[in-house]
Amino acid sequence: MTPIEDIQPTVHEGMARFRSSLLRRASAVAWVVLIIIGYQAVREEVFAQPEFFIPMAGLAVLLIASAAIRWEGLMATWAAPWISSGWLAALIAGITALALVPELTAVSLPILYGLAAVSGLLLTWWAHALVTVLIGLAIGFIAFDLGTADAVGDVVAPLVTVAVVAAATALVGFEFEKEALISVGKESKLEQQRLDFERLYAVSATLARAESLAEIVPHLIGTICKYLDAQVGVVLLHDTDMARLEVMSPIWVNGYPLETEEVTVDINATSVVAQTYRAAKPILVKQIDEETDSHILLKELGLKQALVAPLKVEAMRVGVIIVGDPYEEDFTEDQLEQLGSLAAPAGLVLSQIGRYEAQADMTKRLEEVAQMKTDFVSTVSHELRSPLTSIIGSLDTVNRPELAPPEPTSQQLLLSARRQAGRLQRLIEDLLVVSRIDRGAMPVQIEPISVSDVLEEINRVVSIEPTITVDPPDLMVEADHDHFSRIMINLVENAAKYAMDSPVEIFAWHRGTKAVLAVVDHGPGIPDDQRGRVFERFTQLDQSDTRSKGGTGLGLSIVKSLTEVMHGTARVEETEGGGATFVVELPVFVTIPTEIAAEA
Ligand code: ADP
Repeated sequence: MTPIEDIQPTVHEGMARFRSSLLRRASAVAWVVLIIIGYQAVREEVFAQPEFFIPMAGLAVLLIASAAIRWEGLMATWAAPWISSGWLAALIAGITALALVPELTAVSLPILYGLAAVSGLLLTWWAHALVTVLIGLAIGFIAFDLGTADAVGDVVAPLVTVAVVAAATALVGFEFEKEALISVGKESKLEQQRLDFERLYAVSATLARAESLAEIVPHLIGTICKYLDAQVGVVLLHDTDMARLEVMSPIWVNGYPLETEEVTVDINATSVVAQTYRAAKPILVKQIDEETDSHILLKELGLKQALVAPLKVEAMRVGVIIVGDPYEEDFTEDQLEQLGSLAAPAGLVLSQIGRYEAQADMTKRLEEVAQMKTDFVSTVSHELRSPLTSIIGSLDTVNRPELAPPEPTSQQLLLSARRQAGRLQRLIEDLLVVSRIDRGAMPVQIEPISVSDVLEEINRVVSIEPTITVDPPDLMVEADHDHFSRIMINLVENAAKYAMDSPVEIFAWHRGTKAVLAVVDHGPGIPDDQRGRVFERFTQLDQSDTRSKGGTGLGLSIVKSLTEVMHGTARVEETEGGGATFVVELPVFVTIPTEIAAEA
């Protein structure tokens, strides 16, 4: 709320504006009146008489002078009622003088009534009363000067008319002044609110542009200091881990941001800053005392007076804002209130940006951890690869019939060791592929590939014999040969593992810009709710079953990643009648018919 004392000067200004405009209009109307009197004087042939042209010239000079005067300034001074009643008195004198010419009395008298009306609107009640008496005297003087005998007709009636006009316009003027006071008051309040909103908007706009605290803090305090006309501005944010308020660098001094070292205030201290934070209420410190501990930080900033307000997000406190000056000049309660309202959006955005920064920090740390994990997996896998290759080589050698131990138990142990080593090798290969995909280090060489050729090749290496249907038989895809083979081998081997003893079929056909490949089995299939999950890393639907089948839980995630690096998609559907159908779509390679190619 704006204090009423602040509104008063504006009301005064509003009335001054109204009165000066009334005076200006009255002067304009007076010219018309002079012309009418002039016309009457010509008609009655009295214009050559000095009784006519001397007051006429006087009135013309008065009106010319009135046009040159800056009324607004004059009406705002204490002398306004004196000046306007003087102006009216001069007009009354001129008109009275003209009315003394008998031929002009009839046109002059009504003008005096008009002046009584103007006076009612223009003057304070006492000045208006004075002018009314003056007009009454003038009417009396005119009547007596003309020596008319009819006292009632020439004196009493005009006097009563003047009194009625004066009273009526005084009433209207009084009501009007009241209305004007109220509306000017409202207008000034609205103006104040508009200013407040403008400031809030400016602060919010500054805040909305920034992305980091370091960027926002100087803008924020700079804008607030500008609006509150203060030289120094400081923002402190609550450090929740340490129960203290931390000064945000830079602080604002004399129009410039100034970097500071780490400064903190204990939130439980007795200082004004900590108190403002705890009480969540703005405080105006009129005089900063070098001696008291409660002015800590404020005196270190070299301030003599300060406004301290909490930064809040709804009921939650996030920090404190200090605005101050190094000299004693009274900050007002009003400014304190303004700081409070500017602190509201500031608190909100500062806390949001703080949270955003913490989040970004956390994301960065998580990314680093993920990178470390990928590097670790890649290094370990590489290191395991060579010894494992030599272990597998040795086991294969020892397993050869001429070298194999004669005892069946030893033979079984050796075979089991070879199986486990093979499993380990697959896991390591899978891990290496995954870490290469993660690092974006997977080489991809896209070229036109014949689907039938690749399916023939894999048919020779997989452990089962799927039936293959490619339509059209010369279907080509744009893919990396090794990745495409790995995808198909993984899918066929999975079908062999999980849909044991059921026929496995591979279908390939052309649809739009894609070649669609489906690996169909008639095994147990994958439950509806698990279909999205199977492509995730280390997902094994039935762990005991999977383990016994030597799975790693990485196969399908590799299928998906490799398909994607070749701009394709992978999904799983249910086979009609039960079972799983894995569908891979890859960009088709369209061969241009030779005759068109030749034309081109
Ligand atoms: P894994 O190395 O365990 O085979 P995958 O990523 O290849 O890992 O497969 C993930 C899981 O999806 C498997 O553990 C299995 O439970 C399930 N799965 C994969 N293919 C099939 C299939 N053809 N039929 C049924 N379940 C399957």
